[in-house]
Amino acid sequence: MWNIDQAYIDGAFVPVHGTQRVEIANPATGQRIGSATLADREDAKRAIAAANRAQPAMARSTRAERLDMLRRLEAAVLARTAQIRDATVEEYGGPLARAQWVSNYASQCFATTARALEDYAFERRIGDATVVMEPVGVAALITPWNAAAGSICSKVASAVAAGCASVIKPSELGPIQARIVTEALHEAGLPRGAFNLLLGCGEDVGDELSTSPEVAKISFTGSTATGKRIARAGVETMKRVSLALSGKSATIVLDDADFATVLPLALNAAFMNNGQACVAGTRLLVPRHRMAEAIGQVQRAAAAMRVGDPRDPATAIGPLASQAQFERVQQFIRRGIEEGARLVAGGEGRPEGLERGWFVRPTVFAEVRNDMAIAREEIFGPVLSMIAFDGEDDAVAIANDSPYGLQAYVFSARPQRALALAARLHAGTVLVNRIAPELGAPFGGVKQSGVGREFGVFGMEAFLEPKTITPAAAEPARAAV
Ligand code: NAD
Repeated sequence: MWNIDQAYIDGAFVPVHGTQRVEIANPATGQRIGSATLADREDAKRAIAAANRAQPAMARSTRAERLDMLRRLEAAVLARTAQIRDATVEEYGGPLARAQWVSNYASQCFATTARALEDYAFERRIGDATVVMEPVGVAALITPWNAAAGSICSKVASAVAAGCASVIKPSELGPIQARIVTEALHEAGLPRGAFNLLLGCGEDVGDELSTSPEVAKISFTGSTATGKRIARAGVETMKRVSLALSGKSATIVLDDADFATVLPLALNAAFMNNGQACVAGTRLLVPRHRMAEAIGQVQRAAAAMRVGDPRDPATAIGPLASQAQFERVQQFIRRGIEEGARLVAGGEGRPEGLERGWFVRPTVFAEVRNDMAIAREEIFGPVLSMIAFDGEDDAVAIANDSPYGLQAYVFSARPQRALALAARLHAGTVLVNRIAPELGAPFGGVKQSGVGREFGVFGMEAFLEPKTITPAAAEPARAAV
């Protein structure tokens, strides 16, 4: 039984000043597995002060020192891989394979960032000027519950590489995962205050971070609605704000694709992480003349996906993370039916044989129009909308007709054709004939899926700002002109 009542401030685990308690339940069983006491504004202020004390030394640290910190962080998190995986399964309901991927990623992101840092040009010449990339200052790192360990680690990696001290506010809905990651980060032995972490609610701790004049930068991952709130709150102190937000990704399957190979991949892209993924390909665009065939394949693939105990390696889809998520997804399924979409797999309620836990039936709608709510809104559960298109121009128009633009997928037997189509899509990332990302490449969204990029060199640059230094020697020449 977990009892989490400490924050990590100034290099030590300390009791929180806040008093609000939250219960932690296993979403597969509903059983209580612990509780946590949330931090409050007072704790946030202490964490911000600690980060500000650490900032000057972090800013002065050399490339070699930052690389050393990243390597120690990688080793410390790597040593906790199994614990992070188990917590992801128990607290979040992540299926084993996904939980393993997340826990591997949590340490890998330090290595990816170290590679970007190794040969990064912090100084360059532009005419007479020397341009120096300087750390932006103390950063608040605010993360969601659906990718707890990975989000925390990748943001910490970028902040450290850039020389920024940070205050991390993970989602209050993942206390166990946050605690294990904090213990690992602590074991890396970074300077006191280089990172601080506190569990708390958005309205108080999150708001304190977004409004404090002592915080220079916010790196936020979460919903578009919260991202807008943070951007508005941050503008008063002119914070640098990076926002990684919601998505409603399109998967385009072209008419020459081999459906037997491609549609199971498309279904995986839709239902990955139990459908609770910002990059989930939840709109599946299929040529109208091959739609009947596609529906049959998708039905077979969906029926083959095992829903159940996330600890079982055969499970593809575990429970949703909470009752709130369960109810949200049920509402969207009802809405899809009411709007006239044709249910071809799943539906309301729990899957047969799973009477407890927040399990939902993997659900597929066909005959979906792109203006229906199930095609426009991020559902955040295993619910897929199949949409017919007539020709490539129509596919591009439907894919781009969305408030979001995070990640898209294109499948075709002819890679050049798929690449040409990818160039026309409004999305931060397009994956062509694959669903696995390239981790060192920039990741982020266009339109309402966000502002800025994470990972690798672009992720690090989000914590840097150019300073131009132009020496006096250049002045007489300029004056003569
Ligand atoms: P959320 O927006 O509810 O919360 C995210 C974080 O913001 C949490 O830590 C929360 O406590 C905090 N927060 C809430 N209100 C706040 C406020 N007023 N000020 C400051 N902080 C506040 O999102 P969620 O439900 O935790 O996560 C799911 C969402 O995240 C989905 O929309 C998903 O698409 C998105 N997401 C995006 C990415 C990406 O990289 N683009 C990755 C993962 C998740």
